[in-house]
Amino acid sequence: MGKRIIITAGIVLTMDTEYSIHKGGYLIIEGGRISALGSGEAPKAQNGDEAVDLSDSLVMPGLINCHAHSPMTITRGMCEGVSLFTMDGFLNTLRRYESFEDASMASASTGVSCAEMIRTGTTCFADQYFYADKIFTEVDKAGLRAVIAYGIVELGDEKRRVQELASAGAFLKLCAEHRRIEGWVGPHAFFVDNSLDLIREEIALAKKYNAGFHIHFATSNEENDYCTEHFHCTAIEKMEELGILEIPILAAHSITVSESDITRMAKYPFYPVMAPSAAMRSGFPSAPVKAMKNAGVTVVLGTDNVCNCNTYDMFSEMGTAGKLIIHREQDVKAIRARELVSMATREGARALGMEKETGSLEKGKKADLIALDLSDIGWAPFCGQDYYTQLVYSVSGYSVTHSMVDGNWLMKDKKLLSIDYSDYVRRMEKDTAELQRRMASS
Ligand SMILES: [Zn+2]
Repeated sequence: MGKRIIITAGIVLTMDTEYSIHKGGYLIIEGGRISALGSGEAPKAQNGDEAVDLSDSLVMPGLINCHAHSPMTITRGMCEGVSLFTMDGFLNTLRRYESFEDASMASASTGVSCAEMIRTGTTCFADQYFYADKIFTEVDKAGLRAVIAYGIVELGDEKRRVQELASAGAFLKLCAEHRRIEGWVGPHAFFVDNSLDLIREEIALAKKYNAGFHIHFATSNEENDYCTEHFHCTAIEKMEELGILEIPILAAHSITVSESDITRMAKYPFYPVMAPSAAMRSGFPSAPVKAMKNAGVTVVLGTDNVCNCNTYDMFSEMGTAGKLIIHREQDVKAIRARELVSMATREGARALGMEKETGSLEKGKKADLIALDLSDIGWAPFCGQDYYTQLVYSVSGYSVTHSMVDGNWLMKDKKLLSIDYSDYVRRMEKDTAELQRRMASS
């Protein structure tokens, strides 16, 4: 028998399909997977087993952030007062900053993002940006699970298209051999930066590697207006015609969608990602999450970049999502707390094609879990309280004390084990100063 990790837990909140909760429970981890869990006394540790006492903690699946751009932490706070959900705001701020950046600035920023995600309870995330190789290296070191979408930008440049497609293919091949990192394809949005010919080639590439698309979709009506003018149909109709909808698709925001769009989504592996803080701070309304869920569409959660959202704390996003959905519907029963936790765990895993491996604590699944200290300020009282409500609306990601991915500890007692955070911050500060120098002297 190999070395086991035996965790004694105050509460095991499994997020399995029965929403099982084991009070006074335990988990056993062997070879990176959960080999047993349940209520009652944990088996005795022996022969070098690691026994971990989390009897004052709640142990739950790690959270899954389905929409991030990890190298963008370098520009946190630099887009205040600008709506990044409009083409004007996007092109005149972010794209301008990005034109002064280079690949060397992506590493430290990604490292800082990974540290923040681990610290606040995220164990898996879906990224979409340029510099995919740099992101890959940092995520590999951090020990997180991730789906990294290679952001292809053509901008009418034929030579660049060929180079980008070749690099994207090499990246997907690299990811195919990795235990925790999957490669997807990430056009920013299907009508920005990429010609229809390139989109068709990207679909073929995704199919070859059994990958999906990670895009922005329906953040405003600009996309539909563009498609009506150029193709005489709506955006989602054009996507259907191109064959994009046949592959799994993470569609960040999905705000300005009609009833017929939702009917179409429900027929395909189409996963809208709600990023509530980013939408609100950009001055945009909520996605019609309730209507999409009622139609059978799996809606998941993400933070978006930290210029829009300013934090990777998915506990904060669960709470914001719940309040925004209830506010939009003017119905206190519009969404239950446990549905929000599900969006950030099991359903996030389904959207990433990982539901057999992660997203809940079940025998045979990968050991991707976090622990929150129940003695921390913010939980009491426990008598008669619902743990899902407390997780969504009472505590924050900074109550997370432990994090494990693939059976490896990434954080214990709030100490990051895989990341030298201060070194990343020191390097990112230098990069930020250089970025600002370049912009000032332009
Ligand atoms: Zn985004």
